[in-house]
Formats: sequence, C-alpha cells, structure tokens
Amino acid sequence: MHNINYQYFDTPSFRLHQFNGYIEQVFLAEYPDKILLLDGCCKSDVPIIERVVHEKLKREMSDIRLSVVTHPHPDHAGGAPVLRKKYHIPIVSYYLNDCWYVGFKGSLQHAFDIYMGWYVVIKTSLHYKSMWHKKLIHADFLLDDGEFLPGFEDWQLIHTPGHTNVDCLLYNSREKMLYVVDMLIKLNRGFVLPFPITRPELMEKSLAKVAKLEVTSILMAHGGYYNKNVSPELFTSMIPHVDPKLTVLLKIFKWFTMFSPMLKNKGKKFAECRGNMERSMKSSH
Ligand SMILES: [Zn+2]
Repeated sequence: MHNINYQYFDTPSFRLHQFNGYIEQVFLAEYPDKILLLDGCCKSDVPIIERVVHEKLKREMSDIRLSVVTHPHPDHAGGAPVLRKKYHIPIVSYYLNDCWYVGFKGSLQHAFDIYMGWYVVIKTSLHYKSMWHKKLIHADFLLDDGEFLPGFEDWQLIHTPGHTNVDCLLYNSREKMLYVVDMLIKLNRGFVLPFPITRPELMEKSLAKVAKLEVTSILMAHGGYYNKNVSPELFTSMIPHVDPKLTVLLKIFKWFTMFSPMLKNKGKKFAECRGNMERSMKSSH
C-alpha cells in the first residue's frame, strides 16, 4: 500500500492523529485507554483507518470507543456504519441527523449528495471508489446542541446549521480545540466557506456562535490541523461571504442540494421523523 500522509499533534489530554482519507482528512483523538474517531468518514476510508490504528498508534480497532457522524454527507457518514458493523464502534450524531434524508425527497437528496461527491472526485482526479452508503445512520446516541460525547466528556457537540440543517462541530474546551468539519475549508488562497450553503441566514448565526468559543486550534475536514492566530475574526470575517453570487454551473448544482424535506421544516415525513427522534432522545437521557 502507498505511503500514508500522516502526522500527529500532542495536547496535554490526548494525541491527535491526522491522515488523508479518500476526499477528507481523518482525525483520531488517542487517550491512554480509548480512542475517539472525530467523524463518520467515507466508506472507503475503513482500510486506511485500520492501517493507521495498527501501524502508527500500535493499538487495536476495538480501542476506538466512539465515532461521530457530524452531518449526513458521504464523506462524513459513510464509514461509521461499516466500522460499527465490523468492530461494534457505536455512533453518536445530532438527534435530527437522519431527518435530513427522510422520505422520497430525502432519498433524492441522498443520491444527489453522493453524485456531488463524485464530482469532487473527478475534479480532483482521484481514483474512483464507491461512496454509496445507506441514507439513515440510526445512531446509537442522539445528542442535542451543547451535549457532551458519551465516554468523551471533554468533547461537546455544537449544532451549526447552514451547510445542512443538521451540521455539528466538536469542541474541546480543555484544549481549546474545535473540529470545524466543513464550516471552514482551507485552500491555497485562504479560507473559504463550504458549498453548498443551503441556509445562509442560519450559517451567519452559526459563524457568530462559533466565534464566541475560546479556540486556539482548529481541525478542518478539508484543510487539516491549523493553529496560527486562530481568533474570533476567522469566523466573523466569513459572515459577509455566506450568500455569494454563484456562477450558472454552481446555481445548477445548488438546485440539486435543496431537496431535503428538512429545509422548509415541513412535510409529514419530516414531522414524523422529528417526533420519533425527540422521543428516542428523551428516552435515552
Ligand atoms: Zn458536507
């Protein structure tokens, strides 16, 4: 197998491992007695995660005690169900995560989101690997905004709608570290916001909310670890860019990202899903 683009960063509480997944960076937080997988990754990332855990961490896959599906896109939700099936690693997500793809329109959205992933693959000339995954995750733990990860209570789930309505970030206040997932993307020319932003007005609020957290380092799914002059302005300076003028091609692409029944907060299927999720969350708390 080819070389792994891998590095690690030590903090007083854990060692953070970073390596290239299929189209995104993968992060593991390693503690003496357990490992946290910070995202759901792509389905095709499972072999590289296994390899890093064995070769770099010299640990067993069973030491991973939790994975977090931060939002339903294929590079953040495809690997977690495979890891759960193979190694019994439980999944945590925002309680409404599965409502994003509910019903017929949700299924359309699910298919389009996977095609969009393929577009990234073609554009960046990566080898073809399947990104198809089941649209519903059925997370083992459902959390609301601000709740702490089970077994990893130094990490908090922060609900930041905008990219999708169910996007969440992970915040570690002890290490002042924030996993921003797709909220910020680092390109050679600097930081940009993700595409699509399905709800610009919610993205503005999410950026302002995150700017209030005390943060000295950020982790980007598309950009990696970054700790140079991280300040609230990094987030607030993006607010004027949440609703940019789109090219015709991007307008067409955006049209394909607006199918989720959750976007308009209505529809029988969505109401049903929301009710079910609220009940399962309450019964598990
Ligand atoms: Zn995404």
